[in-house]
Amino acid sequence: MGAVGELSFIKNLRERSPVRNRRGLQLGIGDDCALLRVRPGWQIAVTTDLFLEGRHFRRESHRPESAGHRCLARGLSDLAAMGGATPIAAFLSLALPRTMLHSVPDQRWIAGFLQGFEALSRRFGAPLAGGDTGEAPGPEFSADVVLVGQIRPGRVLLRSGAKPGDGVWITGALGGAAAELEAMLARAETGRGPSRISGPQSFPEPRLAVGAALARLPGVATACLDVSDGLSTDLGHLCEESGVAVRIEAASLPLHPLAARLGPERALALALHGGEDYELLFTAGAEARLPKRLASVPLTRIGTVLKRERRRPILTVADATGRNQTLTPGGWEHLR
Ligand code: ADP
Ligand code: MG
Repeated sequence: MGAVGELSFIKNLRERSPVRNRRGLQLGIGDDCALLRVRPGWQIAVTTDLFLEGRHFRRESHRPESAGHRCLARGLSDLAAMGGATPIAAFLSLALPRTMLHSVPDQRWIAGFLQGFEALSRRFGAPLAGGDTGEAPGPEFSADVVLVGQIRPGRVLLRSGAKPGDGVWITGALGGAAAELEAMLARAETGRGPSRISGPQSFPEPRLAVGAALARLPGVATACLDVSDGLSTDLGHLCEESGVAVRIEAASLPLHPLAARLGPERALALALHGGEDYELLFTAGAEARLPKRLASVPLTRIGTVLKRERRRPILTVADATGRNQTLTPGGWEHLR
């Protein structure tokens, strides 16, 4: 990108973003660094996500507003999973292909991307406080998002605290993002299907309020992470960090309506392996009293934490008759 293009692009971003906010952003876009105020006694939580065209979204199938939203939602979901850290500032680095800056539809795409990003950033109080802008060497667009949040040390929820006997819980519903993606890809290929789906694939809702409410319940949650890669893979991370095993009850998984309508077998596969649902997966002591909903989001118990034993697979899924099958992260062995 030419220097002039870059300067006007940044000027435009700067005009649209607040310079400071009450939560701790003292200086936003415009100087060599952003300045954040650290509240005494709080910890800073930082998360980074890389967002690559063709890998994390497709310009043919994802609306630009959806791409911008998803790119920020990933980091907000990480802050949620840490115990509902409060966002302070977001940083966005963009690699823009030269061709995108000279084509009107592509400029419109970039504007839509920034609109989607800003709408979510405003809603969660995560103002754009800086970033970097450069010319991509190839035809693909990519973005990197850094989110900074703050949290009190006593509220932090790690992946490593799950204990044998704990219940395994999930917020919201599973499989919706993957089901919506299938429908979007089918439409991009065949031209058939609903033209505008605005479900959990296009506009995932980060569970910040739930994460914060969960962290406020004293002694309830023992471990927490968000479901970004897929339940089976993220359960694997939980087991790895906590040194435990987990058994999931297939019949108890809350299925998103977009997945449920694909039939029980496909819905189960998407709920277990689909990914990108950005729900919170957490464990809680067996005696913990959990409400049916937290911050208006349903909570469902889906399994139990077990002791790790050499003869037993780390992840198992029980069918309705109670028979156990090995659950391979990312792959599904059909229930016989
Ligand atoms: P430097 O050369 O010091 O890195 P830049 O010219 O890259 O400065 O950036 C100038 C200002 O614009 C900085 O405050 C930077 O954070 C901000 N900025 C640049 N690109 C972006 C972007 N994509 N999103 C948000 N802020 C940006
Ligand atoms: Mg720079």
